[in-house]
Amino acid sequence: TPVLQIEGVDKQYRRGDEQVNVLVDFDLTLAAGEFVTVTGPSGAGKSTLLHVAGGLDPPDTGSVVVSGRDLWAMRSSSRAAFRRRNLGFVFQFFNLVPMLTAVENVSLPLVLDGVPARSADTRAEELLYRVGLGDRLRHRPAELSGGQMQRVAVARALAARPSVILADEPTGNLDSRSSTEVLDLLRALSHEDGAAVVMATHDEAAAARYAVRRLRLVDGSVRAVDEAPNLER
Ligand code: ADP
Ligand code: ADP
Repeated sequence: TPVLQIEGVDKQYRRGDEQVNVLVDFDLTLAAGEFVTVTGPSGAGKSTLLHVAGGLDPPDTGSVVVSGRDLWAMRSSSRAAFRRRNLGFVFQFFNLVPMLTAVENVSLPLVLDGVPARSADTRAEELLYRVGLGDRLRHRPAELSGGQMQRVAVARALAARPSVILADEPTGNLDSRSSTEVLDLLRALSHEDGAAVVMATHDEAAAARYAVRRLRLVDGSVRAVDEAPNLER
């Protein structure tokens, strides 16, 4: 059964008097552990797609089903809780809480979800060791490099064992070595944890290297799908 099923999604924004069609009859079905990239020019609708798929921005029509639940049919309070448990987000600018340590940033979604502090911290530390930051547990974001901050963000995205991880230009602010580290980790951890990944990126080379399936978005529609079944996922 699919972990993510997007069907018939339309999304428009108003710009002055004009309606801009950002997503047009968009469909995507994702199985557990799949790594899919979405490429396309700036303004193509990649971020919008991730926001709609992640329960952050509602579609005008269509449905988004995550692990069997229709995200946009829930009340907003249920959706927020569902999101914390079932969806992980990685952003271009990390979105870490500056005042919190690495452990606190990773454990925060668990604590918000009612997990006792002790076990949330244990899970956070275990994830930080797995992303190679076992020696940075008590560091705050300002004391970490960009690549390290993004590895904290990857650990945070995985904390609740989500079925789907949505990554919006996760390497857009990293040098190439850190980018490779982050993408290797995302792939390995998502594969080990069985989470599917949708990554928006303008880095076609990274998409070619990591994706099992590549979607190219142009003017709100998928213009090309490239299956790469020979790739290890
Ligand atoms: P991408 O991530 O591919 O660069 P976006 O999804 O950010 O594309 O944007 C797609 C289009 O939708 C752009 O024309 C953008 O200006 C517009 N857009 C995105 N979010 C909003 C919004 N909240 N209000 C109005 N227009 C928006
Ligand atoms: P990204 O760099 O991840 O593509 P964007 O710069 O496209 O992010 O968008 C950042 C935020 O601003 C998003 O929440 C998006 O919905 C909003 N946004 C993007 N374009 C517009 C726009 N033309 N008008 C209003 N809000 C926008």
